[in-house]
Amino acid sequence: MIHIDVKGVRVPALGFGTWALSGRGCYEAVRAALALGYRHIDTADMYGNEAEVGRAIRDSGLARDSIFLTTKVPPGKLRARDAKCCAGESLRKLGLDQVDLLLVHWPNSSVPLGETLGAFAELRAAGKTRFIGVSNFPAKMLREAVEEHGADLLCNQLEYHPYLSQSAVLAAARGYGMMITAYSPVAKGRVARDQKLAAIGRKYGKSGVQVALRWLVEQPGVAAIPKAGPREHIAANIDIFDFALAAEDRKAIAALADNRRLVDFGDGDWDPA
Ligand code: NAP
Repeated sequence: MIHIDVKGVRVPALGFGTWALSGRGCYEAVRAALALGYRHIDTADMYGNEAEVGRAIRDSGLARDSIFLTTKVPPGKLRARDAKCCAGESLRKLGLDQVDLLLVHWPNSSVPLGETLGAFAELRAAGKTRFIGVSNFPAKMLREAVEEHGADLLCNQLEYHPYLSQSAVLAAARGYGMMITAYSPVAKGRVARDQKLAAIGRKYGKSGVQVALRWLVEQPGVAAIPKAGPREHIAANIDIFDFALAAEDRKAIAALADNRRLVDFGDGDWDPA
């Protein structure tokens, strides 16, 4: 495993995404991920699976402090009172006293950012979360959060994969000493059908998916959280720590970027490609 050292914490660079997993399938996938060595799990109030994620963590028998757990407050619950209530509900559903990272899931321009960040800072001070962060924040909104509101943010979670470069917001986050978590890191499965990535993978005895994940976690301060259902996908996605990409291959993967954004609710004020 590669780890990211950021603001005094070590975050496993490969995590497990749980969007679209629910019920027994979610519980079993998270149990499988933990058994296979994942120690970083991503959930959210919006995913409706915090109870299953929490139960899988508790039943794993692993020490709570060996797992880095993220959850998120949705854009409709960003008023201070709502955010605190939502975070409390998340902890109740997870069956835990604290998460490692609490994220603003998506910005909401109708709620003052300072109010949300103030509530998040209070949740952190109360021990409900070890760190706070944001998701889907373009560079200028990161600037506002850090420079105008003085927020101490660990992470910006963003759509990031070989087809979407994100260079501007990556540079901004790094400038603030933050990590980036790449969501939809295998472009919602499209990477598995990419012949160029498959060809690069053949050089290393790896699949195109494994090469794309390795490309992400080799980048300084970048974590990736692929979601997978079947155990063989969960296992394959973490089997990326026994090879390193040659510079020419890293360059060829970066050249696949064509500004393909797969997650967009139409109101994103995104950074230019
Ligand atoms: P993703 O991880 O890029 O792709 C998931 C898809 O790829 C699934 O259809 C999965 O199929 C397939 N896949 C995974 N591993 C594979 C493998 N080894 N071989 C072949 N196919 C494979 O997309 P995502 O679920 O959108 O993103 C990952 C996580 O990021 C989410 O689960 C969630 O935790 C987080 N996320 C956050 C936000 C946000 O706004 N903050 C938005 C989107 C996602 P199988 O299920 O069949 O394995």
